[in-house]
Amino acid sequence: MSTERTFAIIKPDAMRAGFTGRMLARIEEHGFILRAMRMVHLSKRDAEGFYAVHRERPFFSSLTDFMSSGPCVVMCLEAPDAIKKWRTAMGATDPAKADAGTMRKDFGASIENNATHGSDAPETAAFELGYFFRGLEF
Ligand code: ATP
Ligand code: MG
Repeated sequence: MSTERTFAIIKPDAMRAGFTGRMLARIEEHGFILRAMRMVHLSKRDAEGFYAVHRERPFFSSLTDFMSSGPCVVMCLEAPDAIKKWRTAMGATDPAKADAGTMRKDFGASIENNATHGSDAPETAAFELGYFFRGLEF
């Protein structure tokens, strides 16, 4: 397993609920190295660009309203097999179906307000990291 980077978000619902500090601690306890991190309040258009792959989905408008509803924390996480490792740590998209001890189980409220995002493949990680960070920030 080679060292890999993935892109992660602490979503606006989790920040509003006051979970940011606990979630960052959990990320470090899992063994991820924080290579870059910033707080950002997305515009509706920023959120639409980020989730462009979901443009045709029925929840697209609601999702992009939610993602632009308040600040979030955007991060580059590094670890061996980071993409899969972070997806596992987050748990299923729907917190009600997520395994015990996962971030979404513990901090998510609904299938939309699910506390975290993680890239699902090397190509999406590269796109998403490039959407938010410049090379100098790593
Ligand atoms: P993410 O891409 O945010 O890491 P994911 O890969 O687990 O989550 P996707 O299918 O890519 O899930 O959906 C993107 C986001 O859209 C979800 O994280 C969630 O916030 C929202 N979402 C997904 N499915 C639904 C749904 N059926 N209804 C409302 N919102 C949804
Ligand atoms: Mg996804």
